[in-house]
Amino acid sequence: MVTARFRFYEELNDFLAPERRKREFDYRCARAATVKNAIEALGVPHTEVELVLVNGESVEFSHILREGDRVAVYPRFETFDIRTLLRVRPKPLREPRFVADTHLGGLARLLRTLGFDTVYGNGLSDEDIISIALGEGRVILTRDKALLKRREVTHGCFVHAVKPREQMRELVERLQLASGLRPYSRCVHCNAVLKPVAKAAVLERIPASVARLYDEFLLCPPCDQVYWVGDHWREMRALLGDGGH
Ligand SMILES: [Zn+2]
Repeated sequence: MVTARFRFYEELNDFLAPERRKREFDYRCARAATVKNAIEALGVPHTEVELVLVNGESVEFSHILREGDRVAVYPRFETFDIRTLLRVRPKPLREPRFVADTHLGGLARLLRTLGFDTVYGNGLSDEDIISIALGEGRVILTRDKALLKRREVTHGCFVHAVKPREQMRELVERLQLASGLRPYSRCVHCNAVLKPVAKAAVLERIPASVARLYDEFLLCPPCDQVYWVGDHWREMRALLGDGGH
């Protein structure tokens, strides 16, 4: 066995046993244990970790721990600038695209409302979710730590909040999504890209009160849902604390 001294930062502490939060502690791990083994054994899914410093130097997940190592573990998007340091994950996903776990339907619909490409399906198994994430370059959103600990998973995000609106706020903040908001671009029901449609073409299908007030309309080609550009977006901005543009 080797003993290393660990310190976890920011929200990573939520995954630790209470007596290990926000302080240094010694942890005995198997000889030849990697940094990743130890971090996950302590309860933190590897997808939540952006940077690991061992004795002040950034290391990869495969780094083997040695007696007396001091290990500092940081979550993604810590406020200090880590661009010059090597991150544990080789390539960040450039455009945020998501696959939401089955219990996050409310969050998936809100993300689509904001314009983010989000796959969600009630019947998706863990295997389906992982293969969609890997095949389509999507970030897995889940509240299931076991799913994020799966070896194949490269990009995932544990959602701390419980209510959909708070989950959305959490993600916009943590993943710095505010600059990428594109309202009225995606169907809330099926995730397809919306197409502008002439008011005359949808007039028979919308309430008279809507026809009186609104002039811009959009159609979802696969599911034939009609959308209008109106107060909805103002509500969303209020929800996000007016972070949008
Ligand atoms: Zn649709």
